[in-house]
Amino acid sequence: MTTNENGLREGEIDIINNFTRRKLAPEEVFVFSLVLCDNEIDRDHERFSEDALKKLETLFCGVTGVTDHDPKAGNQTARIFSCRTEKVPGKKTSYGEDYVRLTARAYMPRTDGNSEFLMQLDSGIKKEVSVGCSVAKRICSICGCENGSCGHVRGRTYDGKLCYMTLDEPTDAYEWSFVAVPAQKGAGVIKSFKKGAVDTMDIEKRLFSGTAQSFTADELNILADNFRTLKEKAADGEAYRRKLEADISKQAAFALPQLKRDTLDFMTRKMSAVQLEDLCKALCAKAAKNVPLRPQLCAEDKKDNKKYNDYKNI
Ligand SMILES: [Zn+2]
Repeated sequence: MTTNENGLREGEIDIINNFTRRKLAPEEVFVFSLVLCDNEIDRDHERFSEDALKKLETLFCGVTGVTDHDPKAGNQTARIFSCRTEKVPGKKTSYGEDYVRLTARAYMPRTDGNSEFLMQLDSGIKKEVSVGCSVAKRICSICGCENGSCGHVRGRTYDGKLCYMTLDEPTDAYEWSFVAVPAQKGAGVIKSFKKGAVDTMDIEKRLFSGTAQSFTADELNILADNFRTLKEKAADGEAYRRKLEADISKQAAFALPQLKRDTLDFMTRKMSAVQLEDLCKALCAKAAKNVPLRPQLCAEDKKDNKKYNDYKNI
């Protein structure tokens, strides 16, 4: 196959020009190859099926990619103009099938601003790619169950067999990008799933992994929803806490009149809601004993309440 100095193969400029607003001359573009994904089990213990890779050939065609995650570096945009799956002769996957990968050809306009980036590409420095796509099915390698309903855990072994998920029936391919630091842990293929079939446990695991992670738009929506719910719950919890603290403060004035307000505040600040409830009950009981004529008593303390009524009836 012949290529010119821009990496262009014969006939490719015509394909590229199907994607451009105006016809570009061969010297105006830079073309390169990349491997988008394959059927090997990745570090998330997932792999694409061969059928999925075939379908992604079409889905990734025309998709633009950001070629640098670092916003300060000035993002470079390239577009995939052709994709194909290929078997690598003699290479097998870890589970014994023929190794298949999805390769793509991408172009970007040659400008003064991207010459350094193009040099890096030429020298093979920037070569790890992450992709964003949605799949409808994830199939368990242990039992064939779909979308995680079986409870088998990826990465664990069951009777000597590794559990991994086969990603099947891709529905959308929406991004690809070069990973800024190729050796970075967590780099590689990033997948998301159709809404409703999203593995939220997996998203959370990545969120708390302590390493740099990328999230798809769907995953970010889920994280944002969870965050909103937690914030609402936290606000409710905070209001309940303030009410308990106010009750404690009131009861303590009767039960432990010598106790300074500052000391009490210091104690309650460190307590959980359950501990605050306990303290509140104990103070109520004590306050009732100390001040039987107090007009309001804790509802929980029926015995002391009775005493109060008895006292009143004398
Ligand atoms: Zn299973």
